[in-house]
Amino acid sequence: MKKQEFWFVVGSQFLYGPEVLETVEARAKEMAAELSRTLPYPLVYKVTAKTNREITDVMREADYDPSCLGVVAWCHTFSPSKMWINGLAELRKPYCHLATQYGSEIPNDEIDMDFMNLNQSAHGDREHGFIAARLRMKRKVIAGHWKDKRVQERLASWMRTAAGAAFSRQLRVMRFSDNMREVAVTEGDKVEAQIKFGWQVNTWPVGKLVETMDAVTEKEIDALMDEYRASYDFATEDMKTVRYQAREEIAIRKMMDKEGCEAFTNNFQDLYGMEQLPGLASQHLMALGYGYGGEGDWKVSAMMAIMKRMGKDGNGESAFMEDYTYNLAPGAKYSLGAHMLEVCPTIAAARPRIEVHPLGIGDRKDPARLVFEGKEGDAIVVSLVDMGGRFRLICQDIKCVKPILPMPNLPVARVMWQAMPDLETGIECWITAGGAHHSVLSYDVTAEQMKDFATMMGIEFVHISKDTTVDSLEKELFLNDIAWKLGQ
Ligand code: MN
Repeated sequence: MKKQEFWFVVGSQFLYGPEVLETVEARAKEMAAELSRTLPYPLVYKVTAKTNREITDVMREADYDPSCLGVVAWCHTFSPSKMWINGLAELRKPYCHLATQYGSEIPNDEIDMDFMNLNQSAHGDREHGFIAARLRMKRKVIAGHWKDKRVQERLASWMRTAAGAAFSRQLRVMRFSDNMREVAVTEGDKVEAQIKFGWQVNTWPVGKLVETMDAVTEKEIDALMDEYRASYDFATEDMKTVRYQAREEIAIRKMMDKEGCEAFTNNFQDLYGMEQLPGLASQHLMALGYGYGGEGDWKVSAMMAIMKRMGKDGNGESAFMEDYTYNLAPGAKYSLGAHMLEVCPTIAAARPRIEVHPLGIGDRKDPARLVFEGKEGDAIVVSLVDMGGRFRLICQDIKCVKPILPMPNLPVARVMWQAMPDLETGIECWITAGGAHHSVLSYDVTAEQMKDFATMMGIEFVHISKDTTVDSLEKELFLNDIAWKLGQ
């Protein structure tokens, strides 16, 4: 495992004398150590900063050190912010201003001017906040007592997001074939994507994949079949078909691992030399943490891989999803999402079944796939679209429900949900914003995390929540358009 951590930088100055500075340092160390026990990454105390030099040095080191995923800053005392300008102006890593203080209560009898000079976060954090605002820094501000569970959870979420951002900066996406013919929303500027997100998106020939498939041994397939048996129920006798999916999975994974890719796309219009569209193969790869996008959709594939890293334990409950059909009956208004085959089984409500059915699209043999229902619970759907000149990240709050119908003849994984604020308004907002039919559906990444991710990447963010109206969204999009054309 690569070492990954966040740095804790505490602002102060020489004005208060050595005793105060020693106390500040001791408390900062104590806070970093205690917080590290609950946070998903260590928070490492670095320095009580008192000079321009100290601050510039630590920010440069943070940028340079690949183990540092971001900087958390706090001002125990007042720290004049002109000495922060050079360091903050250079910092490129995610930055969080933790507006907290050591103690949670004002001690009635004890409080005097010495106490005030030592415990003046309310004072120091404002000076510190101004300079970041003046620099137009991309940052996160979290306020509250550092032992408060809600504060710790928000800091933890921000850390997971920053880890996703670091993952994004080095992500490589393997494309087999190009986009589905004539489709617009899956297109995009790959050069701009690399500038903004760091993604290296490149294409490999399907012929190379077929060659790699031919070289897969029966022994390798046996081993993967054992993995399938451990995770899934077999609802088919057709082992030949399932083994063919295993062959595809092994070959795709070999090619990705060889090139250091952690996300991939394919296109049912280009399966030359392949007997089946990869279904189970893609699904099991997604369960392992690889991103996937159908029809050549590299944007959704990359976002899925990143959102999995941003979820719990670095491989969370985020899945490639597609809006398919609605239930528009009064009192029971839902969206039904699925894909031809490829939905990640980490979002399954129960143990998935391997089934073999014909596929009307793609002109190949009946493929094996995992069939299941998605879990109930609050979730989000996320779509990244290229607006021409900028990327827009759209996030909608949804509530997933147990499908209201058994749908026995639907041979794919499916999820049923209620869009916020309600089905019709939700659809109108999504369509108004230009959201795609492909999305990433996530149970464990939050809308706040997606907003933080957009901030870290310097892209537009649109959130459709229970409070959104079509009018307010239209105004927001209109103003965003002007702001982005002006360069924000
Ligand atoms: Mn699709």
